[in-house]
Amino acid sequence: MNFAPNRPTAILSALIEEQRGLVSQLDNAVCVQRAGRDFWRGNLAGRPVVLALSRIGKVAAATTTTALIEAFDVARVVFTGVAGGVGPGVAVGDVVLGSHFLQHDMDASPLFPRFELPLYGRTLFAADQDLSDLLIKACEVAVLGEAPQKARLHRGLIASGDRFVSSAREATEMLEKLHACGHAPLAVEMECAAVAQVCLDYAIPFAAARTISDRADDQAHVDFQQFVTEVASNYSRNIVGQLMKLL
Ligand code: SAH
Repeated sequence: MNFAPNRPTAILSALIEEQRGLVSQLDNAVCVQRAGRDFWRGNLAGRPVVLALSRIGKVAAATTTTALIEAFDVARVVFTGVAGGVGPGVAVGDVVLGSHFLQHDMDASPLFPRFELPLYGRTLFAADQDLSDLLIKACEVAVLGEAPQKARLHRGLIASGDRFVSSAREATEMLEKLHACGHAPLAVEMECAAVAQVCLDYAIPFAAARTISDRADDQAHVDFQQFVTEVASNYSRNIVGQLMKLL
């Protein structure tokens, strides 16, 4: 992908633990503050990037994404972070590449169909195909190359909402409602559908890879914390490092 080589790639993470490994590798790092947030400009593997924390939840993520596009003129937005696995066979340590995103807590029915985003006339926001193809290659090398027996790569729907899904009952209820409308997410998290929406508004390519930290069940908060502390940073650093070579 050699378009706009001088415009930076935005790399978004939700959590400081996910971002730490990336900031430590940044060449010519400059921290710029905007909207109460730190944006790290610099080079990764010789490619211009802006690193930012989306912060947690849809509104925070939308604000960060808008600032990245308006103030930093980014050419594309890539999200790497953790998520809860809700699809069959999506296990802790696997990676889910988002093909589409939806807001599982959007409900303007009966005015609009359940889960549809009012005035957009759509429920699903698609990831950019070309950027996602590069990101999945990067994931294959970075993650599967290191743990081919254990980690698996999935590509599919990611559901976002302002809720840390932390019980099997809650996850089942959420999935039943989504399945009833024909949507079968592989992962649940709190930001990507908002980032995808802003990127669509500005016609900026977006792709996301979410590493599974938990199964969105009764054990989620324990698994999540352990994963984030021990491995999330390595995943993000390796995936983004490989992606930079492909851009
Ligand atoms: N304990 C953290 C807050 C974590 S919120 C803190 O104090 O900072 C969970 C984050 O991980 C969100 O960014 C969300 O996108 C992702 N995530 C991981 N597992 C999730 C789950 N089961 N449900 C929703 N979001 C999840």
